[in-house]
Amino acid sequence: MRILYVTPEVFPLLKTGGLADVSGALPAALIAEGQDLRLLLPGHPNVMKGLGDLTPVRGALGGMPGAEQAAYQGGLRLWLGTAPGGVPAYVVDAPSLFDRPGNPYLGPDGRDWPDNGGRYAVLSWVAACFAGHGLSADPLWRPDVIHGHDWQTGLVPAYLKLRPDRFVHTPSVLTIHNIAYQGQFPAEMLGWAGLPGWAYHMEGLEYYGTLGFLKAGCRYADRLTTVSPSYAHEIQTDEHGMGLQGLLSVRADALTGILNGVDGEVWNPETDPHLPARYAADDPSGKDVCKAALEGELGLDHEPHAPLACVVSRLTWHKGLDLLAAAADDWVDRGGRLAVLGTGEPGLEEAFRDLARRRPGRVATRIGYDEGLSHRMMAGSDMILVPSRSEPCGLTQLYGLRYGALPLVRRTGGLADTVVDANAAALNDGAATGFQFAGASARELAWRLRQALALYRRPDLWSALRRRAMTRDFGWVGPAREYAALYAGLA
Ligand code: ADP
Repeated sequence: MRILYVTPEVFPLLKTGGLADVSGALPAALIAEGQDLRLLLPGHPNVMKGLGDLTPVRGALGGMPGAEQAAYQGGLRLWLGTAPGGVPAYVVDAPSLFDRPGNPYLGPDGRDWPDNGGRYAVLSWVAACFAGHGLSADPLWRPDVIHGHDWQTGLVPAYLKLRPDRFVHTPSVLTIHNIAYQGQFPAEMLGWAGLPGWAYHMEGLEYYGTLGFLKAGCRYADRLTTVSPSYAHEIQTDEHGMGLQGLLSVRADALTGILNGVDGEVWNPETDPHLPARYAADDPSGKDVCKAALEGELGLDHEPHAPLACVVSRLTWHKGLDLLAAAADDWVDRGGRLAVLGTGEPGLEEAFRDLARRRPGRVATRIGYDEGLSHRMMAGSDMILVPSRSEPCGLTQLYGLRYGALPLVRRTGGLADTVVDANAAALNDGAATGFQFAGASARELAWRLRQALALYRRPDLWSALRRRAMTRDFGWVGPAREYAALYAGLA
């Protein structure tokens, strides 16, 4: 089947979070399953530079005032090239919208670009144009299904359903990677965005007095997916639905959870070029080398027999890292060490900087984004901590499993679905792969850390747990087959 996969981010060209990792790996897995898939990407500088063999595509993109304005201001062109990994990729080359370096969503002042609504409305419009009547965006390739991701593509299903005058009926899928980001913009942009005013009401595009991009996608997509079965359930509840729970409950039959996988080309301790030594589940000795090197790199005390826990994360309340900041002293007092890599809320950045200042040799904090260091942290740590308040899927716990950094996670979303808690029954059965705690409190986190420490002091048990974690299969083949089945059901 022909699938147009529309995404605002793709690893390694443009990444702010897990969505980029998914978009860097799932398309290739789908192609390996026999799908005729092509990406559609916004033309950020790194995307334009990173695609090979760009050739112009001469189709029709008009009919939306916003797209015509972009075409008038700096040009609006579509190219077809090849993304890393050999995946065919269209790119929307609209310099007035996307020729901006750095974080795709934030301006130099650290705030959202004021025209974010317009930028992603145009991306969504171009996606819908692949289903145009008569001359489409690419006259040589017409998709059977259009699959968008997150609020940035939320208008795609709305265009397809609300503009039958412009677009041929084409099934759409929307994947929600994180319901906390919803894309709400002033209703005044409806006409500019090519959307009919009559659809602006509670049962349509309107969302708390705004034009809601994610809401529109949830309302009009033929199928909705999210990135774990538990999260698919949670987003229908008041606690996690962030205002969309009512609509998602109504659409429960169209909503499924498909777990993310891990890109084994990028995340594999047996081949990882970022590591000082490589290792495997059968022979983890290289992991000791990685631990010692990481201690050196971060200025931590050399202590091969004291556990080192790491965090690689956006530093946000959502990720529960305030809980860790509060529990960390207890962990360190009992002999644990902590390495933190992340950026985010200034208060949390300062909390972890302060911890590192107060506990030299025991806690190291690196504020920043560092792909190589994130790999070395997984390899050099005994545990990875993910105390999220909510977590759609989470990728770092999967990397932790693969690299033998046992995940200690809060029991929510994809964390609950991927980490088997080392409770007595799971230890007896040989099924455990990490640790879970339930309540979002520093006390519960500290309690679970203490229990993990007790297990760490029993090297035979710990090695068995680590071996099991490292051999779990979280590749992309299984998830790709689930998406393929979903597409087949739509065609
Ligand atoms: P989210 O998408 O909510 O940020 P995920 O766990 O799904 O969380 O994905 C986060 C991705 O970003 C992972 O690949 C993780 O390794 C990476 N990451 C987060 N912070 C950093 C950082 N400071 N440096 C390097 N990689 C990071």
